[in-house]
Amino acid sequence: MKEALRESARDVPLVGHFIGGREVAGSEVLCGDVWNPALGRRRARVAFAGAEEVDAAVTAAREAYPSWAAIPPARRAGVLFRFRELLVERRDALAALVTAEHGKTLDDARGELTRGIEVVEFACGIPELLKGEMTENVGRGVDAFTIRQPLGVCAGITPFNFPVMVPLWMFPIAVACGNTFVLKPSEKDPSAAIELARLFQASGAPPGVLNVVNGAAQTVDALLDHPEIAAVSFVGSTPVAEHVFTRAHARGKRVQALGGAKNHLVILPDADLEHAAGAILGAAYGSAGERCMAVSVVVAVGDDVADALAASLERRLERLVIGDGADPATEMGPLVTADHLARVRSYIDLAEREGAQVRVDGRTHPCVRRSDGFFLGPTLLDRVRSSMRVYREEIFGPVLCLVRAASREEALELVNAHEYGNGASIFTRSGEVARWFSHSVVAGMVGVNIPIPVPMAFHSFGGWKRSLFGDHHMHGPEGVRFYTRLKAVTVSWPASSAAGGGFSMPTS
Ligand code: NAD
Repeated sequence: MKEALRESARDVPLVGHFIGGREVAGSEVLCGDVWNPALGRRRARVAFAGAEEVDAAVTAAREAYPSWAAIPPARRAGVLFRFRELLVERRDALAALVTAEHGKTLDDARGELTRGIEVVEFACGIPELLKGEMTENVGRGVDAFTIRQPLGVCAGITPFNFPVMVPLWMFPIAVACGNTFVLKPSEKDPSAAIELARLFQASGAPPGVLNVVNGAAQTVDALLDHPEIAAVSFVGSTPVAEHVFTRAHARGKRVQALGGAKNHLVILPDADLEHAAGAILGAAYGSAGERCMAVSVVVAVGDDVADALAASLERRLERLVIGDGADPATEMGPLVTADHLARVRSYIDLAEREGAQVRVDGRTHPCVRRSDGFFLGPTLLDRVRSSMRVYREEIFGPVLCLVRAASREEALELVNAHEYGNGASIFTRSGEVARWFSHSVVAGMVGVNIPIPVPMAFHSFGGWKRSLFGDHHMHGPEGVRFYTRLKAVTVSWPASSAAGGGFSMPTS
């Protein structure tokens, strides 16, 4: 078996880096495996960049920066318009690449592309977005205005679950603002990022404006420590987000680090239960639960609601089509790697030990035995309590916890007491209750009868509590603020004979 694995390791391509407008092969010594999770087969290896390659990428970005920043915003937008066209043309090919390395269905991958392209479209409006403010006559003959200027070289570190969309949350806005960029995608599905860099270059971007270095923790640390990186955007799990924030912030960088989640959906007795059950199905099990905005906890107010909802979900889960994401009939694909599969399975074992009721058990689903892929069936855990680890920790798989609450106040308390605060939703027919929930809930993104309240590109995305380290949310207006800094300019054009200066504090 080991021989066979070694053999196939030699046969698969090596995913390298993209530095200064050129593809760089990277080292074969330090590298990782990239799998097709539906087949359980290695499809590539990925080179891990060391400090030298990271430095080469940062140097390319630094050298490209002054002339890129000097290009008028409308011309930078011209590159992004062409990039958007190429992304639309290549949407299906990119989606197929995402499916092959991540495992999500083709439809879902196309949806990811669409949401990413929307950020590029937002960034095309950069001439408008960069407009400052002006006040005439702040003092006699004195005018003042504010401008937003780029920061320099920015870095982005992204997770496996959206290999196209999350990079597109970052670099289109960063470069539109006049920065240059070094992207470090997930080592689990790195190929799409290289393809994005090729397309960006083909759109007319000068070499060095966007660079991609592949790698894992060491590559990230080399970026965080690099003195010439001004700002770091991160999306991934909470422990790594906290590490990235602490390390980069200590080195004087601006940081936005988005972390993990445990998104609650509260369902009240007056809600349309069948509508809610349909919405929960996609929100909890879509992309095999590997979405930071997946619903992972349903809080049912009242036992009647919980019993009826659980029965409806059981019926629906029986019909769920699980298989290779490349098959158009598939509704749920595999987990991303064998390690991640083992981790998610271990949470179901734990739930049993903690006393939860395993109403639907993904470990015994026929898909588990059908192929060598990293498959797990959908799992529904009932009578989960807030003291259980399966409730407190992020599982990031097709495992939904059902918690029973006696009142809406108790449900809200649960949501607010949780360590994470990414998204939260309420399903109800009462406008008054929905307004109370939206106002009182401690979470960054809220849905009313919407299970996955992901903001559109022209709003900003981000959680609260330990789902975000730093102050800025991502993309939308917050993205422009993150990738620029404010300058206030005060101007006087005095007549040459006028007396200037004075020793008192200037006032109007
Ligand atoms: P991860 O934290 O393991 O990895 C994210 C990135 O950090 C990768 O590029 C990885 O190479 C790097 N990394 C991993 N370990 C590191 C370490 N010790 N030091 C430095 N860098 C390290 O996350 P993942 O498994 O790729 O993605 C899933 C996680 O991302 C989930 O927790 C999910 O909730 C979260 N996520 C959050 C959002 C959000 O918007 N809040 C969006 C998508 C995913």
